Amino acid sequence: MRKIAVIGTGYVGLVSGTCFADIGNRVICCDVDEQKIAKLLRGEIPIYEPGLSELVARNTEQGRLFFTTEIGEAIEASDIIYIAVGTPMSETGEADMRYVMSAAKKIGEHLNNYKIIVNKSTVPVGTGELVREVIQANKKTPWIQFDVVSNPEFLREGSAIADCMSMDRAVIGSDNPKAAEVIADLHAPFNTRIFTTDLESAEMIKYAANTFLATKISFINAIANICERVGANVGDVAEGMGLDSRIGSKFLQAGIGYGGSCFPKDTYALAHISDKAGYDFELLKSVIRTNTRQRLVIMDKLRDAVGGLAGKHVAVLGLSFKPETDDMRYAPSLTIIPELIKQHASVYAYDPIAEESAKRELPEGIHYCSNIEQAVTNADVCIILTEWKDVLTMDLARIGQLMKNPILIDGRNCFDLTTMASSSFEYHSIGRPPVN
Ligand code: NAD
Repeated sequence: MRKIAVIGTGYVGLVSGTCFADIGNRVICCDVDEQKIAKLLRGEIPIYEPGLSELVARNTEQGRLFFTTEIGEAIEASDIIYIAVGTPMSETGEADMRYVMSAAKKIGEHLNNYKIIVNKSTVPVGTGELVREVIQANKKTPWIQFDVVSNPEFLREGSAIADCMSMDRAVIGSDNPKAAEVIADLHAPFNTRIFTTDLESAEMIKYAANTFLATKISFINAIANICERVGANVGDVAEGMGLDSRIGSKFLQAGIGYGGSCFPKDTYALAHISDKAGYDFELLKSVIRTNTRQRLVIMDKLRDAVGGLAGKHVAVLGLSFKPETDDMRYAPSLTIIPELIKQHASVYAYDPIAEESAKRELPEGIHYCSNIEQAVTNADVCIILTEWKDVLTMDLARIGQLMKNPILIDGRNCFDLTTMASSSFEYHSIGRPPVN
């Protein structure tokens, strides 16, 4: 049993802290956000993540998982301190490091015995060293030792618990093998492959992995755009490519581009890191540009299908950046819906989970609907932005009857072309020929 403090109780801190508790450790999750901690103390979960609520309840009841805003006390009472605060995109596109730095300062101020400081946040190469300097500069008792380890997180929102409990690999970077071993041992119950390296390489692995996946998405989206022009079907193209084991079938689904809390900011951050290091990462910059452009492909399709949008009833299905999460960070809906409103469309939006978080991000004037049928009734056109399960399984015949014009523009390629050919819909998707 290890005594762990997790600083930052967001998507990553709450999930990984709870998983560490579930394998038998005592974990204190702390945060500066008083409302978030008050909710957790009442047994409410501040984010939507399947299975999390039950796991948090079980571990709090069994006395392994605690929540507090008293970060200093949590640090003093723990031997392993995880930093899992946000590293959002700053105005310049770089990773905003102020939360990591403030967590490091706090750790320094409360360093009362030897501790291992583990960075889980996605951070530019060199941050481990910076964290070490900040702790060193703020510690009150000069003789107390500490080590800094990088242990980047790879979980995906929507399947975060499963990802955490049976991760593909745990990357552990440190220049002290003993500290790395302690963190490797901590992961033993997860039965995962441990990959140990130096601090800098571990920090780089996280950016390299995320930007590679973003590259795969932009690549297949570019292929989709060519497919549309030459009459090919990107679904078949991706399937045919993916059968090659060197390529693999994952992350080859064409659509309206990546969003979320990681890929957009991590691609920009790595472009900045490489610029600073004197290398012009043209390939990555092009991935970013391709993604930005891809979101507006929906607008072109709308214009082609229905002409001007003024006064048109547009049903929007899905608001979150992907299914099974309420996370709205860099969701394509944040680009597309304001554009619809700018063009004076009447927007009727439906999302099974993200409505509340969407309301905080989207402009006024959207009609939020409590189900798909409400959103599509009398609609001139319907667009799909997130492939939620109830969108994938919706009764197409019924939806078609409810709409004024059964035109469906599918930004996520939810339906196969044969099904759509036998439906009443005029159907447009990404990288595939239009149907009807
Ligand atoms: P988040 O915004 O959901 O949570 C961050 C939390 O840190 C917030 O609750 C915030 O109040 C808290 N915080 C900020 N400063 C603090 C401080 N000084 N002391 C205590 N708490 C503080 O962010 P997230 O999505 O959990 O991401 C955290 C990190 O993990 C980021 O670097 C992100 O890139 C990385 N990451 C995220 C994911 C993901 O899917 N969300 C996956 C892998 C890696």
